[in-house]
Amino acid sequence: MFSKKIHTPTIEIKPRELKKHNIRLFIKRDDLTDPVISGNKYRKLKYNLISAQKQGYKTLLTFGGAYSNHIHAAASAGSRFGFKTIGVIRGERPKKLNPTLVDAELFGMELHFVSRTAYREKKDPGFIEDLNKKYGDFFLVPEGGSNPLAVKGCIEIVDDFDDTYDYVTLACGTGGTLAGIVAGLNGKSRVLGFPVLKGGSFLYDDISNLIRQFNGKEYDNWLLSTQYHFGGYAKYNWDLIKFINYIHIKHKLRLDPVYTGKMLFGVCDLVHHGYFPDNSKILAIHTGGLQGIRGFNQRFGSLIRV
Ligand SMILES: *Cc1c(COP(=O)(O)O)cnc(C)c1O
Repeated sequence: MFSKKIHTPTIEIKPRELKKHNIRLFIKRDDLTDPVISGNKYRKLKYNLISAQKQGYKTLLTFGGAYSNHIHAAASAGSRFGFKTIGVIRGERPKKLNPTLVDAELFGMELHFVSRTAYREKKDPGFIEDLNKKYGDFFLVPEGGSNPLAVKGCIEIVDDFDDTYDYVTLACGTGGTLAGIVAGLNGKSRVLGFPVLKGGSFLYDDISNLIRQFNGKEYDNWLLSTQYHFGGYAKYNWDLIKFINYIHIKHKLRLDPVYTGKMLFGVCDLVHHGYFPDNSKILAIHTGGLQGIRGFNQRFGSLIRV
């Protein structure tokens, strides 16, 4: 099963911007959790799979969009640890699968496509019952893998910090990873999340609930910076693309355009606007997601340098 403790390195990068304010920026290379099961998805799946196995489940079922890093990770983790996997995918089956879904099928995942309307009902007991009729008994992992077991896994990112920091920053989709970081820090540091979806403030409730379900606590050392979604999920502009390619060339660090690119762009922009006090030490968490670059480049025309 999953190795007990994984250690991912922390590096420091020195974009020109930061010198003026004497701010130090570190990157937690959690994209290196595993060669295939990428970044925070490894952390979030770990205790879900351990729990599924303990309870004797043979099949995992989960949900995601067609480019989902979570679907990719769940398919690969399932194949490695001996589960049959079913991915309920939002939207009709396309004629040609994108690289994420090609991989998922190669890992043995059965793809179950549902219309966008039907997908919205995915928490409905009737919807789950129909899936049970079709696929039998399964361990259900929610969309993005975010549940209290995921929070438990993400606490291990904090356990693996090399140092203490004034700020910890990360990209947010469902907010499960941020919930784990906040719970792990248990009141220390300030945590700044960057929702990649438009109107990300709905996450305040989701994240608070997830933390409460996990350890019954409430924390006030975290905030969401909702200005860096670039128009919504997988939306972009040239500033973002240029920034990602610049960081790759100049600092030898690859970022993905959906999550980590937006987050680090936001961090640098906030530094520029004087958001962080001088002499702050920031840790930006690289949550992985680099597999998504292939699909993004295929769709939009090789924008991201590989
Ligand atoms: C899924 C994902 C996130 C978002 O994680 P949540 O726990 O859903 O907030 C962030 N970064 C990357 C690279 C991801 O794949």
